[in-house]
Amino acid sequence: MGTYIYMSETKDTNGRPVHDPLVNREEKSPNKLTRDYSVILFYKYAPVANPEAFVAWHKLVGPKLGLTGRVHIAKEGINATLEGKTENAEEYMRIIRGDEEGMAAASRIGVPPQDFADLRDVQIKTSLGIGDAFPKFKAKVKEEIVSLKLTRADGVEEDVDPNQVTGVHLKPEELKAWYDNGDDFVIIDMRNDYEFKVGHFKNSINAGLKNFRDLPEILPKLVEQHPEIATKKILTVCTGGVRCEKASGFLKKKGFGEVYQLDGGMHKYMEAFPGNAQEGKPCEFRGALYTFDNRMTMDFVGEDISKREVIGRCQVCQVPTERYGHCANDACHLHLMICKGCAENHIYVWCSPECRDTGRVGVVHSADLGTAGAVITLA
Ligand SMILES: [Zn+2]
Ligand SMILES: [Zn+2]
Repeated sequence: MGTYIYMSETKDTNGRPVHDPLVNREEKSPNKLTRDYSVILFYKYAPVANPEAFVAWHKLVGPKLGLTGRVHIAKEGINATLEGKTENAEEYMRIIRGDEEGMAAASRIGVPPQDFADLRDVQIKTSLGIGDAFPKFKAKVKEEIVSLKLTRADGVEEDVDPNQVTGVHLKPEELKAWYDNGDDFVIIDMRNDYEFKVGHFKNSINAGLKNFRDLPEILPKLVEQHPEIATKKILTVCTGGVRCEKASGFLKKKGFGEVYQLDGGMHKYMEAFPGNAQEGKPCEFRGALYTFDNRMTMDFVGEDISKREVIGRCQVCQVPTERYGHCANDACHLHLMICKGCAENHIYVWCSPECRDTGRVGVVHSADLGTAGAVITLA
């Protein structure tokens, strides 16, 4: 799929490079990862009778345990990404289950037990933290636990209730066996295009989404480009699994027969089978996993990161990188891959002709852009 990247070098009247939105974000430092902090990720479609009360409870518990991150609660369930000191994150994980052990933990820190939703069997994913993965703690009532309101281009809603229709949950071990046995299947990556760029499953199809809600519009084109989707068994994948609850349900609703979703998402698979590129046995998930926090990416190979492949490429010069910048249109700010060298050379990259045409680049006036923009076509 062709992507157009526009770039231009922007200098002030003295020839000095001006405000560069691409270097605003501090480069991620894998060395900052520490066992002292944990990031936890979970979701659960489970009825919540009183989302407001559950949010209020979180506003009590989160700060008490020094947690940061976000919790979204809707009548349909809960979705959370949090960071805290490891012992506090573990305490939260106990409390949130609301079982006997959870009730004991709640009374230990002096908060009411969690009895707003049945989360006794919730699957919680954990990874190393950095201590400042999130700026603060936020808990909110939402219409849905992830913003996945599937809507067609003509505005007709095509939403899916995962409690009604969803794909079969495939365990990481089962997917590993599919790979090892050479099974005939297609993997559709249901994340955003920029998440795909830094890491993805071997032989997976990039849905190329800019927003998850575009899936109904993208799907027919995807099937046209990859006719095997219509004939083979399908596995949908995403970071932690929550998007696939709806994506796989949507595929089923559209009449696709054998539809699976990866249980626990890429997170669980990489954790179970981190692989070792040095020994010629790389993980089937190639590259790093994009995260929606200040870590930017993560993996499970441990201290020696040369054990995994780097598959991200600078969208300007094509060198291997795992560094993200932003679309130079500040109103858009979409993530794009740009190497340190290109960022330091003050090259602006826009995600689309539309963003380029706004002429918006941080504090630079449109006149400053002149006609210096170049067009690069990426394969
Ligand atoms: Zn570059
Ligand atoms: Zn943009």
